[in-house]
Amino acid sequence: MKIVILGGGESGFGSAVLARKEGFDVFLSDSGKLKEEYKSRLVLEKIEFEEGGHTLDRILDADEVIKSPGIPDEAPVIKAVRDKGIPVISEIEFGGRYCKARHICVTGSNGKTTTTTLIYELLKAAGLNVGVGGNIGDSYAYQVATSDRDWYVLELSSFQLDGTYSFRSDIAVLTNITPDHLDRYHYNIDEYVASKFRIIRNQRPEDNFIYSVDDELTMKYVCDHQEHMTMRSLPFTVRDTLLEGAYLDGGRINISLGGRELTIDPASMKIKGIHNIYNAMAAAMAAMLAGVPDDTIRDVLYSFGGVEHRMEVVEETGGVLYINDSKATNVDSVWYALESMTRPTVWIAGGTDKGNDYERLKELARQKVRTLICMGLDNRKLMDSFTGVVPFIYSTSSLDEAMERVATVTHAGDCVLLSPACASFDLFKNYEERGRLFKESVRNMNLIKSRIEERE
Ligand code: ADP
Repeated sequence: MKIVILGGGESGFGSAVLARKEGFDVFLSDSGKLKEEYKSRLVLEKIEFEEGGHTLDRILDADEVIKSPGIPDEAPVIKAVRDKGIPVISEIEFGGRYCKARHICVTGSNGKTTTTTLIYELLKAAGLNVGVGGNIGDSYAYQVATSDRDWYVLELSSFQLDGTYSFRSDIAVLTNITPDHLDRYHYNIDEYVASKFRIIRNQRPEDNFIYSVDDELTMKYVCDHQEHMTMRSLPFTVRDTLLEGAYLDGGRINISLGGRELTIDPASMKIKGIHNIYNAMAAAMAAMLAGVPDDTIRDVLYSFGGVEHRMEVVEETGGVLYINDSKATNVDSVWYALESMTRPTVWIAGGTDKGNDYERLKELARQKVRTLICMGLDNRKLMDSFTGVVPFIYSTSSLDEAMERVATVTHAGDCVLLSPACASFDLFKNYEERGRLFKESVRNMNLIKSRIEERE
């Protein structure tokens, strides 16, 4: 049987290694360049590949195609494959066929990485033999080929879920749904919602589905499809009380699950904000289902410092708390960041605008932000939006300039929050580089201050 893999990034490379191990005739094709480390490994494994273009004849000779999540359905090569009736699947579907482990799968518009990482840490702390994959670390398929796990925790984007057919999650987590990536779903929100709900496809009555009652789009789908949902439902909410599921009671998280009761105090958690209460509720329920003991769940939730670049506490120095939220590249995630601020805030924002509507942030900015430092090549929209809302606004066009401004405007008791609401590509390679350089600057704050003093 001939397998063709389209796209040679992390997921394509992993699929190739697994397909080879399973004895298929494998060909990998990428229209761009492959990473050197992947190329040398493909050569070592005797896997044929091409880069810089697609040889259509060879691709159309496949019995099955594994498509990388980055390639849109409209790509001519995919159209040609589909026109010929060749099945197109995702890496997750392929990996699932050769994996006997149990799967906890996490999807949603926001909070995927945080919730996935938390669940992984919880299972690991309980001594379970667990791997983490999907959008995090080594690809799932690669791990299926090279290790033998009892559990996998997978972060799945809608693009990875499209292309799953028989894959089944033992435990599915849907964090929330807000409009995103609509360009890939014919600008149709129902298509995007349906794609997220592929996470519960094939679930059986003994499987579990964890979801937010407070999320409108999720609840609309759940109500419309009730009769097909035979798995156990485990909802979470911060607004109501539930008989079964997770809810808030006097500020504490209460979880009732099959007669087991667990209480968690959000005040003891290092990760803050309502969004992290949601993430903790979902993660704790998944961990309970996997058999993680109550004490372990509390220990991990109370010591977890968050994932890099997501509301990451950098340090507190001179009474000023610095938070790196470089991953907040849309308005919705900044809303949650500002909402969680409890000190006078110096907010660093800006970069490549993706058509942002800042209206939704104004009320919170008025309450929480004393100083806005815009950091980007074009700061006009951000400055116009917050003039009259925030008392002090500065325009800067580099990180150095922004951090010098931070040094002069902060007082003991403040919080400096990098939560840009924008992509990073005008000044940085990606959001990770932006976050790393920010953290370096914070650690060099004394140098920055003495540089300013010398100049004056
Ligand atoms: P994802 O992997 O879905 O992009 P992350 O866990 O990486 O999500 O978090 C991305 C951003 O979204 C963070 O900056 C954080 O402030 C915000 N966020 C995290 N969890 C949630 C949530 N449950 N709801 C809304 N926003 C969230």
